[in-house]
Amino acid sequence: MKNWAGNITFDSEHVASPKSLGEAQQIIASSSKVRALGSRHSFSRIADSETILDTSKLPEFVEFNADRTSVRVNGSMTYGRLAELIAPVGLALSNFASLPHISVAGAVATGTHGSGSSNQNLAAAVGAVQLITGTGEMIELARGDDTFDGAVVSLGALGLVTSVSIDVEPAFMVSQTVYDSMSIDALIDDFDSLFDSAYSVSAFTRWHSIEQLWVKERATNPTTAQAASAFDGLEPAGEKRHPIRELGAEACTDQLGVPGPAVDRLPHFKLEFTPSAGDEIQSEFFVDRRNAADAIRSVAAVEPDIAEALMVSELRTVRGDSQWMSPHVGRDSLAMHFTWNPDQQLAEDAARRVAEALGPLEPRAHWGKVFDPAMFDISQYVQRPQFIELVEPLDENRTFTNDWFDTIIG
Ligand SMILES: Cc1cc2nc3c(=O)[nH]c(=O)nc-3n(C[C@H](O)[C@H](O)[C@H](O)COP(=O)(O)OP(=O)(O)OC[C@H]3O[C@@H](n4cnc5c(N)ncnc54)[C@H](O)[C@@H]3O)c2cc1C
Repeated sequence: MKNWAGNITFDSEHVASPKSLGEAQQIIASSSKVRALGSRHSFSRIADSETILDTSKLPEFVEFNADRTSVRVNGSMTYGRLAELIAPVGLALSNFASLPHISVAGAVATGTHGSGSSNQNLAAAVGAVQLITGTGEMIELARGDDTFDGAVVSLGALGLVTSVSIDVEPAFMVSQTVYDSMSIDALIDDFDSLFDSAYSVSAFTRWHSIEQLWVKERATNPTTAQAASAFDGLEPAGEKRHPIRELGAEACTDQLGVPGPAVDRLPHFKLEFTPSAGDEIQSEFFVDRRNAADAIRSVAAVEPDIAEALMVSELRTVRGDSQWMSPHVGRDSLAMHFTWNPDQQLAEDAARRVAEALGPLEPRAHWGKVFDPAMFDISQYVQRPQFIELVEPLDENRTFTNDWFDTIIG
């Protein structure tokens, strides 16, 4: 079995696809090493194990809480499907990653994020998780519990997440406008005003210039006027764009400033199409956004070394949070994403070069993407000891840990 990108062939001896929680419990109880697999969109061995528990056949459900401010869903549900199920009752999700294809449990386990200076990563919208632990016990951890900040960005180590409660809000409309080309210096000079002036802002670059700025605005947001002035002087694209400019934009959500439901604008890619380039590898690094200028200049300086590997980069901002193993814990972040050509060695070398360039800025890596752990200081995660204390009693026999976890988290 391979991951979505095809750059990882899992070492698993056995792939089990339970159709009920009882069956899943039995599989966990009879396995010495097991890991849940979501929609397979990670680029590393984070989901690998002797037994892979494919969650895609587990029953789908959605339950609304009494005042309809949150929904409880099966962990394997994708964000796109969830948005589809809550739309008829006038509800929406506040935030999405660039693609709606990923599973809720898999996305939050790795600290997956969207964009927007006021938006935290997707795990921050989770109010409770239910899981089957390594002992086969079913437990729930909820907001307000002492250990909850360690429970959502779990790196898959706490057990099989069977359900997730997610905050929702009344449906809202978003318009998406793409602006063409600005210089890297101009982006750095106006960094705060550009990234803070809309609900979500993404800058796509190959490190010579900013090739496209994707601006997503809540249609009724009072900052619209401010957003308009921050983007004054930039040229709105006259036609739909793909982040990789040479590719057709059919797979991308609608642009040109036409408002639509959040699910049809906040992700860059439509659920029914292949997201991004398809044949690719990804890395992503996060720095404190106060160091954005230095970080952008440092990567631009090594552009010649990564050019052969690079398809495109994306810069986004993510609000800080308090989740122990979140790459955004304790600081507002600049997210620096790299879509690499599908050549593992080239991608790993390029990721190392970027990590080296960012080294003095205490970068953190996206848990689901390609990075060399030797180049990242795990002690930045000051609550890692508490996280390990949370994992150990829930997984006494180390059923859910894998080589990836042992190497990186310890
Ligand atoms: C085209 C593309 C675009 C992307 N865009 C973004 C983006 O915009 N922002 C971003 O931050 N990331 C992005 N990613 C990365 C992606 O969001 C993460 O890799 C995410 O973890 C994928 O979710 P998944 O369901 O595929 O998880 P998987 O890759 O299947 O698993 C990831 C981890 O979650 C665990 N897991 C999965 N399901 C469960 C469960 N039910 N219980 C317990 N543990 C579980 C696995 O064991 C593993 O440790 C992108 C990836 C791709 C391929």
